[in-house]
Amino acid sequence: MTLKNYVNGAFVPAWNGKVRSFHNPADNSQLGEAADSSIEDVDKAVRAAREAFDNGPWPRTPAPERASRLFRLADLIESRAAEFAEMETRNCGKPLRESRFDVADAAACFRYYAGLATKPQGQTFEVGDPGIVCQTVREPIGVCGQIIPWNYPLLMAAWKLAPGLAAGNCCILKPSELTPLSASLLFELIDELGFPPGVAQLLYGPGAPVGARLAESPLVDKIAFTGGGETGRKILAAAASNFKKVSLELGGKSPNIVFADSDHDRALEYTLFAIFAGQGEVCSAGSRLLLERCLAESFLPRLAAAAEKIVVGSGMEESTEMGPLISRAHQKKVLEHIQSACCEGAQLLTGGSTYNDHRSAGNFVQPTIFTNVKPSMRIVREEVFGPVLAVQVFDTEEEAIRIANDTIYGLAAGVFTRDGAKAQRVVRRLRAGITWINTYHPTFNEAPWGGYKQSGMGRELGTYGYEAYTEVKQINHCINPQPLGWFGSAP
Ligand code: NAD
Repeated sequence: MTLKNYVNGAFVPAWNGKVRSFHNPADNSQLGEAADSSIEDVDKAVRAAREAFDNGPWPRTPAPERASRLFRLADLIESRAAEFAEMETRNCGKPLRESRFDVADAAACFRYYAGLATKPQGQTFEVGDPGIVCQTVREPIGVCGQIIPWNYPLLMAAWKLAPGLAAGNCCILKPSELTPLSASLLFELIDELGFPPGVAQLLYGPGAPVGARLAESPLVDKIAFTGGGETGRKILAAAASNFKKVSLELGGKSPNIVFADSDHDRALEYTLFAIFAGQGEVCSAGSRLLLERCLAESFLPRLAAAAEKIVVGSGMEESTEMGPLISRAHQKKVLEHIQSACCEGAQLLTGGSTYNDHRSAGNFVQPTIFTNVKPSMRIVREEVFGPVLAVQVFDTEEEAIRIANDTIYGLAAGVFTRDGAKAQRVVRRLRAGITWINTYHPTFNEAPWGGYKQSGMGRELGTYGYEAYTEVKQINHCINPQPLGWFGSAP
């Protein structure tokens, strides 16, 4: 299987013919190869997008027509849902049931933004002059580079393409070099729907030079990026060259606060889900459990026992509850974090290693929980992006808030308590973009997603995510021009 780029309405190999292999993280077998693009491929796609935006029909296509194309794309995704889910699981490892959920969510995202495209966009303003109609309209930004990570390949593609295309932009998607597979089927469907050439394009290849070139190109108007903070910094610096619009969805070290007055069974179930769903390779993972001290003695042994029973294996097995990490390199990084926590004096409650059976061929790491952690430890401060939970205890509400906010990140946070007033008090003081009370992880296409502090810039999803793909134009219409009398020489 050799996956091609999709440039200017055609599937094409990289111009130099190079390919890069991609793998199944459950056993590290090779799944296929994808175009290994270079700067020339990026420039070609950017020129095609520029032409499509400046002179093509898409930005000027009436919104209902753009919407109808995206509604059909959502239908097509659903009609191929089983294929998409298998591709996603084979390539990024997550259990099939999670992939199925992602596929449904991706289709719903296209549908949401198709609907939003036809809803009211502009405003009129009551200004001081009754002879002026002052209004705004929203227009597409232009050529958008969209760079996505490997943990939700199809869903992240939808989060980027759906609002971008709905608003009339011309989009170039760059998936992670580790997970090119599901984008190939997505672009088959896009091809089938006959978007004008250059409107939706796909470039495979590594961050540098492909993503880096998109970020620096003077012909690109916006970069939307989801990934790690270090990469985000480079993108922001490169984008400064022509003051591109930039949106960044970055990492997190999200606290999940469990008070003693919570429903303990539900809190325990969601604590597991918060950190071990998606193998912990989730930006909003609840990787810090903040537990009220008087609850710790009864809660932690039950939590450890439940973590040990999680069924870890190939995502293709229906019974699997947690899959492998994305790559050997990432597995090594996660194991180094575990090692460093042990060296710094954290207590390993459960997990902490790989498996000595058939799973050793893949990139599996046991569900891992550390207690006795200190605020200065790396396991508390750094994003592990794996199935590793650090437990901190607190005595008071005030202390819980202080510990929760003691991080450079601010993506998400959970609070478990039966006291509604306390829950509201606490979430209002948490410096995080997404908060959950008595639940964890639900994400809605309708509501804004993004982080405070070093978890990102801007918001995706909801109306915020749509507006981020538009420029606002002010139109002042003088309905009955009168002499101005400013310069005496004027007629
Ligand atoms: P990454 O930053 O290594 O890569 C993300 C994408 O950027 C990939 O497509 C990669 O090829 C590309 N890239 C790499 N170097 C680049 C460069 N110099 N210029 C332009 N593009 C470049 O991140 P990753 O390892 O793929 O993903 C994990 C990270 O993503 C984690 O930190 C995680 O928290 C974050 N993430 C955040 C969200 C969110 O919504 N906030 C969602 C998913 C993942």
